[in-house]
Amino acid sequence: MSSAYRYCPACAQPLSARAEDGRAACACGFIHWDNPVPVVAAIVEHEGAVILARNKDWPEKMFGLVTGFLEKDEAPEEGVKREVKEELDLDATAAHFVGLYPFARRNELIIAYHVPATGTVHLNEELADVRRVAPERLRPWDFGTGLAVADWLKRRQA
Ligand SMILES: [Zn+2]
Repeated sequence: MSSAYRYCPACAQPLSARAEDGRAACACGFIHWDNPVPVVAAIVEHEGAVILARNKDWPEKMFGLVTGFLEKDEAPEEGVKREVKEELDLDATAAHFVGLYPFARRNELIIAYHVPATGTVHLNEELADVRRVAPERLRPWDFGTGLAVADWLKRRQA
């Protein structure tokens, strides 16, 4: 049984693995479905460059897209614009859908957008650094949000 829960969040009894699929379940009827969590990701284009960001918790050379969780009742295109504002202090002028990318390792579903943005970059407290990369020099990584970057670059050249 792999679950973030050991005890039922509804009634506090210990959970056990269901015979049919091993999901964590409780006698009261609670089942931890462990569904993937949607995450919005932004390929931020600012003054001709793509902005990659490094989270404070990430290794020194690791840069990625701006990502974040949706808020309750928030549309994904609004969520991705909000994340760009919160993390970089840039104003999104659009959010063009790029694609959906299941990211099994983190149990997430990435909803990726190309987000042209204006303003001056100011990092929020979650970010350590940003890197500006000309689109033609961008080298997509082969997992998670990198797959969105690869698709965006392909479409851009077409
Ligand atoms: Zn229970």
